[in-house]
Amino acid sequence: CKFSHRSKNLKIIQGMEKSVKSSLNNNTIELPEYIVDPSTKTTYLKGKFLGKGGFAHVHKMTDLTTNKLYAGKIIPKARLTKTHQREKILREVEVHKLLEHKNVVGFICCFEDKENIYIILENCPRKSLVHVLKNRKVLTEPEVRYYIHQLAEGVEYIHSHGVIHRDLKLGNMFLSENMEVKIGDFGLASHIERAGFRKITVCGTPNYIAPEVLSMEGHGKESDVWAMGCIMYAMLVGHPPFETTTLNETYSRISNNSYCMPMNISESARNLIFSMLKNKPEDRPVVSVILQDQFFHSGYMPKSLPPSCCSSPPKFP
Ligand code: ADP
Repeated sequence: CKFSHRSKNLKIIQGMEKSVKSSLNNNTIELPEYIVDPSTKTTYLKGKFLGKGGFAHVHKMTDLTTNKLYAGKIIPKARLTKTHQREKILREVEVHKLLEHKNVVGFICCFEDKENIYIILENCPRKSLVHVLKNRKVLTEPEVRYYIHQLAEGVEYIHSHGVIHRDLKLGNMFLSENMEVKIGDFGLASHIERAGFRKITVCGTPNYIAPEVLSMEGHGKESDVWAMGCIMYAMLVGHPPFETTTLNETYSRISNNSYCMPMNISESARNLIFSMLKNKPEDRPVVSVILQDQFFHSGYMPKSLPPSCCSSPPKFP
């Protein structure tokens, strides 16, 4: 898949490339069929494999007391050989457990046994927007209104809790059974410790990395808005705005704010993308302003989408 492949391959986290690669190459991990949370004694039945991340294998997990189905991220402790790897998981849990919103993947609990760390999450059975884009190539403007509005509501909530996601991309926009957007993967997320403080660490996915992150000025809420601009562009155009065949060329285009806007994109969609992709972070709108944008009033905005939209264009009234 074009998007997930690229973003997975190009994901750079300073100093972590080597360990992520080696853990990705190691496909075989032994997992028990029944998993018990030692503190609550809740037993989960491990089900179908759902996907694989940097360190985690994700499986369907059924709580045998309630019969409720979840997605369980299983991280073998043996893979967390370096302190910063363990810290990444701890940060993901610390941040995610504080968040509760309809457009954020629900965090249920986290526990560990001798072998693994388990993170139990709301199950998102319709995968992510990467899969939708892979099937569809481009989306209609009403669908983009629907998805970007929900993304913005989730990001507004996250920002209002002093958290920046730092890795917003199509692959981290999961979809619930009834096609609601659920923002997930808080592995690179960070608390803004005090007003105005900007995180200086280099992280994120190169195609969606903001110019101020490239120039080491740090990552703020505005860098999440930049990523939202890249996501909206990719949905309407079919590829990310700064995509090229080499990383250096992509970085150079990001720094020069050089991208093409196809003429078939409506004026209101173009204007919103232009505003989110402003070179200077302070020139970009905050998410509460994005939610009031003309784009969301300039045409039909569906209240819900049928699951058939994952593979074929909807027929709107
Ligand atoms: P990592 O943080 O290690 O990169 P991810 O959170 O991206 O791991 O999860 C890896 C894969 O597992 C995803 O691409 C997706 O296919 C699947 N997955 C993750 N979370 C969920 C979820 N809540 N519901 C359903 N599938 C999920």
